[in-house]
Amino acid sequence: MDEIIGHAIYKCLCCGYRDKVRGKRKDYKEIYVCPKCNGAFVDIYHLHKYQTKNPAKDIEVTPLLVIELENETAVPKVFYQGKEITRKTIVAFGWETKKADVESDGLMYDIDYFEPVDGVTCRRGYRLRRGKFSFDDE
Ligand SMILES: [Zn+2]
Repeated sequence: MDEIIGHAIYKCLCCGYRDKVRGKRKDYKEIYVCPKCNGAFVDIYHLHKYQTKNPAKDIEVTPLLVIELENETAVPKVFYQGKEITRKTIVAFGWETKKADVESDGLMYDIDYFEPVDGVTCRRGYRLRRGKFSFDDE
């Protein structure tokens, strides 16, 4: 029984190289070293065992502020710390790069919205003023 020759398709987790590996059943391994890149060369039937459950690209940090505008007449979609803001009344965002003069750069946003709290509609908002925008009002 030991002399049965089998084969399996292997795929590299790093470079994606695929190849058929033939060998004696008794020498079978789920995983080899990729001949192209030295990555993990895995029997495709067992691939799921070796794939990272949470690839680094999925563990993104939730952005502080996301403003999406589908077209020129759309209502902007606003996400603050990953939570969508509805019933918005003001969405303002400004940013300027640093120029030669000091305190020329800055960042500001105003997100005003209404939130129902115990049947009463409350005005809420997120607001930031940094750099040149710090001097604009107040
Ligand atoms: Zn490889």
